[in-house]
Amino acid sequence: MRVPEVLLDVRDLRICYETSRGCVKAVDGVSLEVYAGETFCLVGETGCGKSTLALAIPRLLPPNARILSGSILFKGVDLLRVSDSKLQELRGKEIAMIFQNPMTSLNPVHRVGFQVAEVPVTHFKMSWREALATAVRQLGRVGIADPDLRSRDYPHTFSGGMKQRSMIAMMTTCKPSLLIADEPTTALDVTIQAQILKLLHELKNEYGLTLLLITHNFGIVAEVCDRVGVMYAGKIVEVADVTEVFEAPLHPYTKGLIDCVVARRKSKSRLNQIPGTPPSLLNPPTGCRFHPRCAYVTHECVKEEPRLIEVRKNHLVACHNYEKVGGVSWSS
Ligand code: SF4
Repeated sequence: MRVPEVLLDVRDLRICYETSRGCVKAVDGVSLEVYAGETFCLVGETGCGKSTLALAIPRLLPPNARILSGSILFKGVDLLRVSDSKLQELRGKEIAMIFQNPMTSLNPVHRVGFQVAEVPVTHFKMSWREALATAVRQLGRVGIADPDLRSRDYPHTFSGGMKQRSMIAMMTTCKPSLLIADEPTTALDVTIQAQILKLLHELKNEYGLTLLLITHNFGIVAEVCDRVGVMYAGKIVEVADVTEVFEAPLHPYTKGLIDCVVARRKSKSRLNQIPGTPPSLLNPPTGCRFHPRCAYVTHECVKEEPRLIEVRKNHLVACHNYEKVGGVSWSS
């Protein structure tokens, strides 16, 4: 069997935000591999650290973020240690990122076509004439009707869906190796969400991209992902193929998230929920961070932090009691 090529290799990454109340440990000892050509979904509740992890890859963290340790190897190059000029070269050309809110991602004072064209001008030294023609083609490819005309418009004349399509056009013009999409559909209408996901999936196959998709929505995971990493309170708690995660989750938190989806599918009158709330990352709980909310908690969980280990082929979990966690029943 062919061994998958590792495109992105995050090792023991620790990031904190310095605040007036102390250091918020947003990413705490995360290790993760993303294979070339796959769609890898990083899933978890808001505030679990997934966006911080995504922003750290192209080094776009806010000024109060501090990388305490670890490495992010992209094609063998440590992105945390390359020079700013090398990183500038990689951004857009090799690693591109689509953000959550397309309303604020585009520059309001430049025409959309100009903004898309800027990317090949910067990275491929294309002439402006050629780049603008490329931008029109790319806007058409992502589904902007009448792209020649609309490329001359300013972003405020575009709907939210059109803005996100334009961002996708901009970020895929150079056919990067890695496309990071941080909650790309959160700010959009439900019907547009499905179209944007379909578009990302198509472009991924057409250009041979690797897609790192950040989401809190397990429905999206089921639609487009090959593998899933589940994050909780700054840590990765489970990694597996998407089918395995849905059929036989091993971490109580993953199982709780999937049970919520199952309950909704079965149209139960009451929605399922995971009891409690995510912990503060200023002072996270001892041992396993999920222990105050876990139905399987034991004394060991409170005292000792579980390590992320491979317990089945390609299935990693960080839980002392994973053997007790049952599968999911999808039948009604
Ligand atoms: Fe629950 Fe213990 Fe597993 Fe944590 S280690 S998820 S508290 S059973």
